[in-house]
Amino acid sequence: MGKVFIETFGCQMNLLDSDLILSRLQAEGYAPTDRKDEADVILFNTCSVREHAEERALSHAGLVQKLKRRKPELVVGIVGCMAQNRQDRLFEQLPHVQLIVGPRHMGAIPRLVEEIRTTGQRRIAVAEFDDEFIDGVEAVQSRATRFQAYVKAMEGCDLSCTFCIVPTTRGAEVSRPPERIVEEIRRLADQGTVEVTLLGQTVNSYGKGLRPACDLGGLLRRVHEVPGIRRIRFITSHPSFVRPPLVEAMRDLPKVCKYLHIPAQSGSNRVLKAMRRGYTAERYLEICETLRREVPGIEIASDFIVGFPGEGPEDFDQTISLMERVRFQNSFVFKYSPRPGTDAAALPDDVPEEEKKRRNQMLLEVQERHSLEKNRARVGRRLEVLVEGPSKRDPRRQTGRTDTHQIVHFEAGRDLRGQFVTVEITGATALSLAGSLE
Ligand code: SAM
Repeated sequence: MGKVFIETFGCQMNLLDSDLILSRLQAEGYAPTDRKDEADVILFNTCSVREHAEERALSHAGLVQKLKRRKPELVVGIVGCMAQNRQDRLFEQLPHVQLIVGPRHMGAIPRLVEEIRTTGQRRIAVAEFDDEFIDGVEAVQSRATRFQAYVKAMEGCDLSCTFCIVPTTRGAEVSRPPERIVEEIRRLADQGTVEVTLLGQTVNSYGKGLRPACDLGGLLRRVHEVPGIRRIRFITSHPSFVRPPLVEAMRDLPKVCKYLHIPAQSGSNRVLKAMRRGYTAERYLEICETLRREVPGIEIASDFIVGFPGEGPEDFDQTISLMERVRFQNSFVFKYSPRPGTDAAALPDDVPEEEKKRRNQMLLEVQERHSLEKNRARVGRRLEVLVEGPSKRDPRRQTGRTDTHQIVHFEAGRDLRGQFVTVEITGATALSLAGSLE
């Protein structure tokens, strides 16, 4: 059938979607390639969360126009969030693009590619949201690694955070039935997967509309039963859905990693209200206290947006003080980027770019200090590490992760990828731990 090249922008959900698309195309006889110039189909799986992500995807997609001129039968497609967000305007912007597919139609890609190849006509699938939802039950052969796998728990988001484009691009929440998720994980475990990460835009609101009822705590209990699976992760969670069944599952189930990513976004109640996040800074702190009391050893991570409309110096100080009180293991910090069509885009983007940069840098510095202190406190401890393979910087060293998601580098004479090893921690930076293999 030919060769397919997929370039992925954005989050883990997009990485998983790309794997699933590739897997479906492989089932139709396509072979993957990492060279655009030898591909018969080039797909860009895109992100719309910030303007910068869309610009990068547009520029990469623009660059393949030359290839399309040289090889007119080449099919170029834009899929994922930007496809849903910009729809047929992309055909005008990039005339060499023939395929536009939103996140909830990914399952249609092989059929649409075939139609384009036989008719030469463009195809677009962005209309309804629940048409050809892609999941991984029959499509696992192309996963990037055997021992770790992402598994979709739910799609879409029913929240209305004023800054966020995701509900527009990924639609309303829909949860996969637990039996289907467990079936997929059993199959992965049979193929050698030891760590699964359950994915969802707000994965801890999992379960809406399911009969019989099942929440994320219940799903974790069912996944915990799957033989061969040794670690279970889940991302990303929303603070408002950190409820007792989830906390109890994290406390009781040894395979569930003691790491929770719950984006706070801001420490100012005024800004949180304008963002429509549905919690106050005080409530957020209470959630963190409960987690630390109930789940010993848990590490908490966050996202922050700096320069949201109207964020003044006092609001920003409150974000710093929230960080000082919680002491996250790590934080992802983003400069606010207005997304057309969101409620916040109607507000003046009134924090100057320079000030956004300054605030971004300040939060990163606070986080770096906390990460370093936390990592240093691990020196001398023996930690279980799931090895991910040779370190990118120094291939003589191996890299892996702890249960609480810290990166660990250590010397080893061989490739231990996919194995659990014990490492004695001997050094720490803000970003990683170093140690020696036992
Ligand atoms: N669903 C998760 C939640 O609401 O907690 C987060 C998903 S979002 C894809 C990842 C992060 O991108 C968000 O937590 C937020 O910090 C950031 N983000 C989302 N929209 C943004 C925007 N318009 N500008 C800057 N950062 C944004």
